[in-house]
Amino acid sequence: MNWLARFMYGRRGMDQFGLALVATYVLMAFIATITQVFAIQYVGFALCVYELYRMFSRNIAARERENNWFLRWARPIYTKIGRFLSRVIREFRDKEHHYFNCPKCKTRLRVPKNRGTLRVTCPKCGEVMNVKS
Ligand SMILES: [Zn+2]
Repeated sequence: MNWLARFMYGRRGMDQFGLALVATYVLMAFIATITQVFAIQYVGFALCVYELYRMFSRNIAARERENNWFLRWARPIYTKIGRFLSRVIREFRDKEHHYFNCPKCKTRLRVPKNRGTLRVTCPKCGEVMNVKS
């Protein structure tokens, strides 16, 4: 593996932007298989070729600029996805409560499970509703 280490010296290799490019390629290949629209796969393949170019590029400063641009753009999205996933996991693990949205203001509410039909008042907007627990 020494030749590989020597080859990669002075090159940036994979970074977050690269990982996102490859993940997009996998997603596009998957969509292309389902929809049978193979043009999608060629676009994904182009992203992969671009990432190969980035990995082996010796212009580290330029590749770092691209990665920083990507991180600035993607961070809010990753944060939202992360918050959503942690909420889903937390609610899935909580076997004591039933979770639902207020029909009026969409606030996330919870009631204890197995108490029959409950009359609930939303603490945010005051909407009163009947909820099966
Ligand atoms: Zn409400």
